[in-house]
Amino acid sequence: MSHDPNCIFCKIVEGKIPSRKVYEDDDILAFHDIQPWAPVHFLLIPKEHVTSMAHVEDAHGPMLGKLMTLIPKLARQEGCRPYPEGGFRVIVNTGGDGMQEVQHLHVHVIGGPRPWKKG
Ligand code: AMP
Ligand code: ZN
Repeated sequence: MSHDPNCIFCKIVEGKIPSRKVYEDDDILAFHDIQPWAPVHFLLIPKEHVTSMAHVEDAHGPMLGKLMTLIPKLARQEGCRPYPEGGFRVIVNTGGDGMQEVQHLHVHVIGGPRPWKKG
């Protein structure tokens, strides 16, 4: 499994940097964002170091399918209200124009009752 020793999210996967865990399996980790925009704000990441959505290849398909399928379950578990009044935003910032700050693929799930700080 690909790993970057200088990557902050790889360090979270390894437990070298603490995180508030939402979910974990062999391939995926979910944890609360350290600077939440909203009452619910967590990130889903592959445990493998994938730099960004622009680096996704066919082999990542099963992992990404599992990751996307987890979103509605974890969103409800963490306090997002039901569709249609509730719901959530799913954001994948990618590259410079996409305003990606951490260069390890991550999917933001943001929700909960408004107003939000951002978004
Ligand atoms: P972006 O790359 O712009 O999609 O955003 C990266 C996100 O990672 C930001 O929302 C940060 O608040 C979040 N973040 C950075 N470091 C940590 C950390 N140690 N634990 C949890 N979230 C983090
Ligand atoms: Zn990484």
